[in-house]
Amino acid sequence: MRITKGESARLWKNIEIKEENECWPWLGKIPADGYPRVSIQGKRLTVAQAVFMDKKGEISSGYRIEKTCGDKECCNFKHCVAVPKKKISLTKGHSGVKTKNSKPFRYTRDLPIRDEIDPVQQARFWRKVCKSDGPDACWPWLGTSTGGYGSVSINGQRHRATRIAYILEYGSFPDGMYACHKCDNPLCANPTHIFPGTPSENSYDMHSKNRGPKNPATGDRNGARTQPERLTRGEDHWMRKNPERVPRGEDRAMSKLTWEKVRALRASYTKGATQKALAEEYDLHQSTVSDIVRAETWQEAGVVDISRGHTKNKKLTDEQVTWAKEMYKTGEMSQRAMGRELGVNQTTIRNAVLS
Ligand SMILES: [Zn+2]
Ligand SMILES: [Zn+2]
Repeated sequence: MRITKGESARLWKNIEIKEENECWPWLGKIPADGYPRVSIQGKRLTVAQAVFMDKKGEISSGYRIEKTCGDKECCNFKHCVAVPKKKISLTKGHSGVKTKNSKPFRYTRDLPIRDEIDPVQQARFWRKVCKSDGPDACWPWLGTSTGGYGSVSINGQRHRATRIAYILEYGSFPDGMYACHKCDNPLCANPTHIFPGTPSENSYDMHSKNRGPKNPATGDRNGARTQPERLTRGEDHWMRKNPERVPRGEDRAMSKLTWEKVRALRASYTKGATQKALAEEYDLHQSTVSDIVRAETWQEAGVVDISRGHTKNKKLTDEQVTWAKEMYKTGEMSQRAMGRELGVNQTTIRNAVLS
């Protein structure tokens, strides 16, 4: 059923359009049950059904319209969402819910309403959303994501970031519905780009935008390219967060060394063996030996940098030479101390200050 232009005009004449997220009151007659109605194609519909159809399209069979604001007279289509007529059994994380054609779809966890999300969690949520491109742009989710969808913990439960974004804007999200995107960006958390959809709307959403498994995001469409800022790096990287799960030392494939060898190598170094000699003895590159003695690799409790803090033939910068000369003139620092400070040996300092 389609709403004609004339019917649409008649409908909106009776609605007071206010701010985007406010409730828009019905100016016409209000029946005893509190739900204003209009005639569309000879059928009596509630104004909520009418504005939904006018702005969002057909109401799928098996679905009814519910108001996120709870106001019976409100005509703001943004407050009107399609929800399944049958109450869905609320088994957490369970996938046994069946649609009309018997295909199970994943049930969503018990979603909180906005009032159940305290301001601290709300602020924490919005900190993970990048709004820098303005109110109409996509707001990429910068937090954790699982399976390509943003994920956030609210009151100790993990939820899709998109549903939470919607809840924080509109108050609630209907049970059993999918958070579909009007844009082409599953990680977008701009509530105005998100709408609650039926499973079929969700899959339509996916296929109509060339997503889904038949069209994997490769090359320039891959998340790593389109949203390089979301790749975890440095301190956020999985390896940093889970250091105990990263294979180290001899557990690593292709490891030439064992802890036994590393400890022996460190002992020899402490006794004065050069890195070059150790590299030959252990069949390693000298940089590998250097990494070991500086405890960059093969980190072990209690072992810190045991290198002698100098590098042979290391050149000083002009600035360092000037500084060393100054120190030498004033006698503020010994040549040895300067060597330690700059990571060179005493001879280098002597040559510098006398040059
Ligand atoms: Zn409303
Ligand atoms: Zn978007």
